Parts: sequence; structure tokens; C-alpha cells
Amino acid sequence: MPFKALNLHPALIANIIKLGYEQPMPIQSQAIPIVLAGKDVLGIAKTGSGKTASFVLPILNKLLERSPSEKSRQPKVLVLVPTRELAIQVGNVFWDLSQELPQTIKSKAVHGGVSINPQMKAIYGLDVLIATPGRLLDLEGSNAVDLSKVQILVLDEADKMLNMGFQKEMQEIFEFLPTKRQNLLFSATLSKALDGIKRVMLTDPEVIQIADKVEDVSLINLSGFFVSDERKGPLLRHLIKEKDMKQVLVFTSSGYKADNVAYKLTKNGIDALSIHGKKSQSQRTEALEQFKAGELQVLVATDLISRGIDINALPYVINYELPRSPKDFVHRVGRTGRADKEGLAITFVTREETHHFKVILKKMKRYMEVVDSKEMVF
Ligand code: AMP
Repeated sequence: MPFKALNLHPALIANIIKLGYEQPMPIQSQAIPIVLAGKDVLGIAKTGSGKTASFVLPILNKLLERSPSEKSRQPKVLVLVPTRELAIQVGNVFWDLSQELPQTIKSKAVHGGVSINPQMKAIYGLDVLIATPGRLLDLEGSNAVDLSKVQILVLDEADKMLNMGFQKEMQEIFEFLPTKRQNLLFSATLSKALDGIKRVMLTDPEVIQIADKVEDVSLINLSGFFVSDERKGPLLRHLIKEKDMKQVLVFTSSGYKADNVAYKLTKNGIDALSIHGKKSQSQRTEALEQFKAGELQVLVATDLISRGIDINALPYVINYELPRSPKDFVHRVGRTGRADKEGLAITFVTREETHHFKVILKKMKRYMEVVDSKEMVF
């Protein structure tokens, strides 16, 4: 099915083409008609499935169909997200798809970790507000936003929102919303905890379940090296040079290690930055933006950014250190081979980790050839 068959405004189709999307992804062809029809949606889909555009496109289309209203502090659409990174990412999709529309549609992502004052000002005249729960409540508390005119509520990555302990904040936010509204709930998984949110939020929803793309590692080429801790740095530099890697995401298991690996790469003339929980929000955003734009060769990260963050179809991911759980392994290697492009994920394994590594492979039901790097000269 082409995008044209989805009854979207031609200006939106033009923006889709500009982004290089050729065909709707399954969640898009399923969700767009339902959202356009004004129904509630429960979408079970992970990052990487194309879920963001599946709600952004029909929401923009609906806003285009309505005549513009007076500027106010009353957004018509609220998108709640668990993390700052996801807020920025969803904000970018809204921005990309709202270019050159016949009617200006203003959206903005607000999140903690940065000054609240510019956000307070920016809310005036917004159509779409994308927010993390804490910052939204702060803005509400200082009367910078009035949620009583929200017509569409999107809850993105609801399972993560609950895991991060946002239940109370969400309930509080619901109190500020009008009862009559359209609700779109997206979650990577279905859980008992989600039942409560589903009950209070959704009315007779259409359920869309998308097979787990990230856990479908079949498009990802996996390879590994047995390597001692001392030789990991030289092996990493050797691989980056030998394979002429222009964009590679390297995972470590601690922020300290991430800093150390990035420092050593830089010292050896390879452009690298690290990102982890102890970095400031602006450092995290900047490194991620540079990396996504292809201006930074190596990003060294902890699992913090592995979940939820979409870095499009990376050619290379390197596990400098093994993650603790098979799930994290899948999330890490899932950063490559996205949206139908092949990728290569390389894993460094020390001899002591052999057993743990075998457990991961067994859980993933994948075989991986592991080369002993002892004889390699680098
Ligand atoms: P998401 O699951 O929303 O994080 O999207 C995953 C990735 O797929 C993003 O990098 C999008 O830019 C990309 N994407 C979304 N829709 C399409 C499409 N129809 N065709 C190709 N890529 C897409």
C-alpha cells in the first residue's frame, strides 16, 4: 500500500517523500486510518517499528482539517514520553513532517534538565506539546500551560513510563485533561501494570500489535572476537580503521569506561565522544545530534541510550563490553540493521565471559562465529 492510499494531505505526502520514506511501515498502514477516524488506539510496538510517524502523520492531518484557533496556552495535542531523548526525537519527527504545510502547525518538546523559562514562553501558540511528565507538571503548576483543551493524548512508551515510576504523575496529568478526547497508547510490551492505564485512558480501543522488529535480529550480521581486556582498545581502533567505519556506536557497561574508551580513541586521532547518565543533558543531546548527523565518527555509550532511542540504520555497533542481560544485548544490536537495512554488530568477549556470552546467544537463538584475536596483529 503506498502512502497516497492513506488519505493524507498532499503537503504531508510531500514531507514524507522528502524524508525518503517509500512505503508505510505496517504500524503506519494500520494506525493511520484508525487515528484519522477518531478512534482510540492501543499500539504494541517498539522503537524502530515506525510508530512515531504512525501517530504524527494522522495528528498533523487532523490539525490541518481544523481551522486555526486563537493563540493560547492550550495545546490541542499532548504527547507524553518517559525520557528527554524521546521527547527530542518525537519533537524532531513533528518538526520534519510539519514543514511547508498550508497552515502553520507549531509543536515543541519540553523536558527537564534544561531551564524552564524559555519553555514557559514557547508554550504560547503551540498546537502540539511533547513533554516528559515531571516537566509538564512543573509547567502546569506555574500556569504556563492549560491542558483543558487537549483533544488528542498520546502516551508513548507507556511501559517505560511505568518502569520509571511515573504512575502518580500520569494520574495527576490525566486530571487536568478533558474527559472527551482521543487517546493513543503505545507500549513495547503488554504488562499487568499497563492494564490500569489502559482502563482509565482508553475507550473501546483498536489494538494493533506489531511483531518485534528490534528483537528480529535476522537482518543483523553478528560477529565476535575473543579478546583480553588490555587488547580491547587496540582491537577497536584496528577494526574502525580496517573496516573504514564512518559511524559506529560502541557500548560499554559503565560511564567511567565509556569516557575512558572515548578518550583513548580521541588520543589516537579517532573522533569520539561518550554519553551516559552522568553527562549533562546538553552534552548528551549534542553528542547524539552530532552522531546522528554523521558528524561524529564514534559514539561511546552505556545502555542508557540503547533503549528507546532511534539512531537510524547504523552500519556498525560494537559491544566493547558485554551487557548483563540478553535483552540489553538485543536492544544494543538492534541499533543497527534498522528499517530494512543490513548492519554489523561486533561483540568483544573475554575468556571469563564465555559462559555468560553463550547464555545470551542461546536466548537470542542465534549462532555467532567468534574469532580468537590472540594471533591477530594490530
Ligand atoms: P520509530 O519506530 O518511530 O522510532 O521509527 C524508526 C525509524 O524508521 C525512524 O528512523 C524513522 O525515520 C524510520 N521510518 C519511519 N517510517 C518509515 C517509513 N515508512 N519508511 C522508512 N523508514 C521509516
